[in-house]
Amino acid sequence: MGAAESVEHVEHVDKISLKVMVDKKRHKVVYAEAGKDFVDVLLSFLTLPLGTIARHVAKESNIEAVKFGSISSLYQSLKDLNPKYLWNPTCKEMLLYPRNSMEAYCRQLRLNIDDTEPVKYFVCENLECNSSVKENKNRLSLFRDQKCGCGKVLNIKVSPKECLSLENGFAKVNASFIISDDLYVMPNVFGTVVYLHQKHKITNIEAIAEKTVEIGKKEVIDILKLSLVTKTPLTDFVFKKNLFPLEKRKQFEFRIREVKSDKARQMSVKIVRRKSTGEILFVEAGEDFIDFVFSFLTFPLGGVSHMLEGFSSLNCIDSLYKSVYKLSPDIYLMSQAVKEKLSNPPIAAQFELSNQILPICAVSLPVYYYHSFLSNSRYREVFTTTTTTTTTSTTTSTRKCYGYSSDSYVPLNLVDPKFSSSKSSSSGEYVKGPSIYMVTDDLVVSPISSFNAISHLNSLNVPLLDVEEKVVRVGPKEGLCILKASLTSTSALTNGLNQFIRTTIEKEKLIK
Ligand SMILES: [Zn+2]
Repeated sequence: MGAAESVEHVEHVDKISLKVMVDKKRHKVVYAEAGKDFVDVLLSFLTLPLGTIARHVAKESNIEAVKFGSISSLYQSLKDLNPKYLWNPTCKEMLLYPRNSMEAYCRQLRLNIDDTEPVKYFVCENLECNSSVKENKNRLSLFRDQKCGCGKVLNIKVSPKECLSLENGFAKVNASFIISDDLYVMPNVFGTVVYLHQKHKITNIEAIAEKTVEIGKKEVIDILKLSLVTKTPLTDFVFKKNLFPLEKRKQFEFRIREVKSDKARQMSVKIVRRKSTGEILFVEAGEDFIDFVFSFLTFPLGGVSHMLEGFSSLNCIDSLYKSVYKLSPDIYLMSQAVKEKLSNPPIAAQFELSNQILPICAVSLPVYYYHSFLSNSRYREVFTTTTTTTTTSTTTSTRKCYGYSSDSYVPLNLVDPKFSSSKSSSSGEYVKGPSIYMVTDDLVVSPISSFNAISHLNSLNVPLLDVEEKVVRVGPKEGLCILKASLTSTSALTNGLNQFIRTTIEKEKLIK
């Protein structure tokens, strides 16, 4: 599996010093003062796919592993799922190690916790394949072990020009920031400091003291964990306060603003509920719904905040996300483009579902060309996009501008990593169908069997007499509610879906 395991053992001694102002009596962080390095780390959280976060918080750092709502159990169930239920082995790898679409921004950070393998490009070892348009062997893959039309594996690594430019993080090099306990990032100006003193009701300057804490990768994971489960991650980090159990927040109701529900994009699932409490015990669903819940793992945290308009139920992530809107790209962020990307980080290229019901965008790739030309009386070849960063027009005249009579540009076909020869269309799904699966309230996915279902009910002590079934349709609105609930609750289905079922029941009563 990916590079994650091997990278883990490398010692990173690099540390960032973080200055915090603490309330001496109340043992609270009033604010932290930081420069680019630490703010880059915080902003990089928004680019991390939920699957990457689930993987990180499941490990011990200075604090124990934490549960990331239902996302942790969803991730674990994918890990445990027999690969035969997915279209091919790459599908499972993609969901367990989803790429970061803003990898180019994160790789140069002083503390980059995203250990996912950087994107690589592969062509056939038989280099003649690159120019054989007619036989459709001119293939390029962003994933290992994909097959060429000639039967060989695409295993020659190439580096397309114009694809490898790394960016220097998110914040401006000399900018200075103030960060509130709940990770709201603000400009370091006098007004901000006054505001925070007032907010914390600090009248006497003697009540506060400056403290410096050293932040390495392990500490970044601590802060990431805390940002998911408490409202005061900096205080809890600095004073090593105990975490309160996540379960206590189980029964929240999750409402979202009006979303247009599109009938054409609805999935039908059968829910099994406990009659006496209304708790959803599990749902029976086809591969479309399973693809949908697994696709959460590919969503960048900031993309989730964007879809939920800054109300994702993860308080600190929302406040970090909202602070991006207030930071000026002229003084505090690298550019307007950085600001826009952080405001809505997309899914990495080729990771999207073709039938995704949620309004989240994915990176689209340029057309890559195999360029061969005569230079110093010998043929050379280059892999290029022939496009500049701003335009995608590739007319014949610009392609032939090198003036070599033997110049040729052959467009390469991107290999669909979710392709399977047993699929009728290669249309971007992970999970094999037609098939029925079972999803528990905390999003544990498994193939359905009556044995599984009965033993699940037994484990919850639910008598069969207390069980009812209902069919519900899950469209964009219901889907968003499940996603929102899954971030903080281990009852993602009950909290996400029950509000819609109640209205169905009420409607039924009205008709009667
Ligand atoms: Zn080949």
